[in-house]
Amino acid sequence: MKRLPTPEPFVVTHPVSPPTRLPVLLLCASLLGLTALGQPPTASPPVMLKLRGVPFTQVIIDDAFWSPRRETNRLSSIPVNLAMLEQSGNIRNFELAATGARTGYSGPVFMDSDLYKGLEAASYSLATDPDPALDGRLDAIIAKIAAAQQPDGYLNTHFQVNAPDQRWTNLRDWHELYCAGHLFEAAVAHYQATGKRSLLDVAIRFADCIDSIFGKTPGKRPGYPGHPEIELALVKLWRVTGEPRYFDLARFFIEERGQQFFAAEHQTPKDRYDGSYWQDDIPICDHQNIKGHAVRACYLLAGATDITAETADPELVRMIHRVWRNTHEKNVYVTGGIGPSAHNEGFTVDYDLPNLTAYQETCATIALALWNHRLALLYGDARYADAVERALYNGVLAGVAQDGTKFFYVNPLESRGNHHRSPWFGCACCPPNVARTLASLGGYAYAVSDDALWVNLFIQGQVKTRLAGHDVRLDVTTDYPWNGKVQFKPRLDSPATFELRLRRPDWCPSATLQVNGAAIAQPMLERGYYVIRRTWSNGDEIVLDLAMPVQRVAAHPNVTANLGMTAIRRGPIVYCLEAADHDQPLDRLFLPPERELVARHSPLFGGIQIIRGTALQMEDPDWHRQLYQPLPEPREVSLTAVPYYLWDNREAGAMRVWLPLAPRTPPAGGLEQQAAVSVSFESGNAQIQGIHDGIEPRSSGEQPSALCHWWPHKGTQEWVQYSWPKPVNLRGAKVYWFDDTGRGECRLPASWTIEYLTENGWSPLRGPASYPIALDQWCETQFDPITTTALRLLVKMQPGWAAGIHEWKVTEADDPW
Ligand SMILES: [Zn+2]
Repeated sequence: MKRLPTPEPFVVTHPVSPPTRLPVLLLCASLLGLTALGQPPTASPPVMLKLRGVPFTQVIIDDAFWSPRRETNRLSSIPVNLAMLEQSGNIRNFELAATGARTGYSGPVFMDSDLYKGLEAASYSLATDPDPALDGRLDAIIAKIAAAQQPDGYLNTHFQVNAPDQRWTNLRDWHELYCAGHLFEAAVAHYQATGKRSLLDVAIRFADCIDSIFGKTPGKRPGYPGHPEIELALVKLWRVTGEPRYFDLARFFIEERGQQFFAAEHQTPKDRYDGSYWQDDIPICDHQNIKGHAVRACYLLAGATDITAETADPELVRMIHRVWRNTHEKNVYVTGGIGPSAHNEGFTVDYDLPNLTAYQETCATIALALWNHRLALLYGDARYADAVERALYNGVLAGVAQDGTKFFYVNPLESRGNHHRSPWFGCACCPPNVARTLASLGGYAYAVSDDALWVNLFIQGQVKTRLAGHDVRLDVTTDYPWNGKVQFKPRLDSPATFELRLRRPDWCPSATLQVNGAAIAQPMLERGYYVIRRTWSNGDEIVLDLAMPVQRVAAHPNVTANLGMTAIRRGPIVYCLEAADHDQPLDRLFLPPERELVARHSPLFGGIQIIRGTALQMEDPDWHRQLYQPLPEPREVSLTAVPYYLWDNREAGAMRVWLPLAPRTPPAGGLEQQAAVSVSFESGNAQIQGIHDGIEPRSSGEQPSALCHWWPHKGTQEWVQYSWPKPVNLRGAKVYWFDDTGRGECRLPASWTIEYLTENGWSPLRGPASYPIALDQWCETQFDPITTTALRLLVKMQPGWAAGIHEWKVTEADDPW
């Protein structure tokens, strides 16, 4: 095997020429599709600048914001990750595979990937904070991984233990290539952190094995992964080893995508195949919008960006810019994350950004940041670093508890108090993904070009790099993100001429710039970066002062979930309201535009800026059998907003990011709205309040903002119950059933009945003619009048399917017939 040079830790420059000898073009405007980029015709063409990221090992983070979080990550999250991986059987699966065992495998098919991600995080940690005990622990785990590898290089414990004769038979669902990708990323990280080849050699053997199987040349087979990841990982492996076959294999997986391979693999007739979930519906260069599973989409786009950085393929470039615009103009949460829907862990339609049911998987926010980081390096345009910053300070950081031991997989922007972080997950992709991001955080902060140092994130500490023939150190002093003032001091052996390029964030309404105490009246702003070119000397001082007012944010009117609402933001931080700071129910509060909001220091969470002000509160009128009534008087209540990333770190309670500007007028319903709702199976996916919110569906397939369903329970008998504080008299009920055929696993139920509570317990109704079941309409039943304090709707689900309810209404006994 080829000998590798001593590793240059985390250098992201390219050690070899790209195997494809296309010149890296200074692409002309027409090639890049400038209209798709949204540039005015006179703007500079978006040249591929190919900046080099400054490795995180060259960045010292020494501030009050990130340093404690990173220390918690190192001392708490990474050990918790390794312990849970041990406990959940991820490591034992390798021991089983090494012994040739055929039983005893634990967990889903992608268990290996979570261990690899944990190793990647731990390796990054070793690179900045040497730790012999951790180093030794990784060696021991890696030895088990190496022992499990088969003679031909193959390595996947699920297949080796459970299905050794089924290798590569289900690329769509069984995640072999996805797991391999995470192995490659971990191997590169471990090699660069420690200089040891132990895991890298394993990765190389497996990469060679995969390369011998997949490709376009005769004798090789077609295909690509159901879950992208290996593409960007192969590019990393190519950069470290210099082996061009790895780049070519990554390119093959990217360029082949969209041939509807999974239809053939699963014998699905093409006229009945919708491959959009896997980004496999149309050829990759034809994509117009972001689609399908959110993590897959962004890992794929990150890999595609890596490929275009080398090939400059104009079709691929155009696709990336088209899809980027669709993503960021129509599909990103204000918290920087993506993927509104739980049913496909991904996208639905443009502007569909519900709050209560927002999925916004932590991994998806990370994937979006990874894609944007690559674009930031490729183009040197601040819009990409803006997206990275938005994700890091909000959606990503929310993924882990303040103490580093609990994690969010799903990140809603509103909660009724029933959504909390978990110590671990059966599908444990998110915890190690957060850990590896925080452990390598400095790598997102700076980039260099031939004669410029680019500052993308503002973090107190220092960065060292080589620039224009000089060793350059830049000291940074700031209290960001709580204060927008950032001071930079170059440290140089001798004067050096280069540019400092300082990002002006997209949230910033105004900024000033000083060099050695003198204001720069009209600083040059290029693609979102202030450009200061001069000969720098030791002792020079640059001060960037970014105005950081409290801002009210509105959403595009097409985002119906946020119509008439506002979110609070200051600097990069998006805020939320938590029940812990308020005596009143949060859904009664509204915040008219004229109400003043101010930022205040708070000792909460070790010292943060909170937002204080007054909101108004108004009780919902009771419209039961009333056409007119006096409007209730609103009353002032004090408002406290805390950073979104910190929510659910105190006592459990409700949370909201978006607040109404005026009192809400919820749809008025009947007696059902006065009932408390309970359900046989509670989960974060089941929004039981949706069942009596009065919002009438237009079809069974509509995806409402709040929905009661029992998924992932399937085929079982379940119930939902209304309980009233006083007896009610009823003679009928009607149900509008949910059915998400084509998107999810809810179907019409097999049957349903209703019981009511009597002194002797639950009793069947008397006299119902039938319990009809139909799509797209109310399914109504009438029964002999009853007096009760509770009704229970019993639902028998079809075998293999879940069921859900849009709305359940009751008819009062004295309602007119
Ligand atoms: Zn995840």
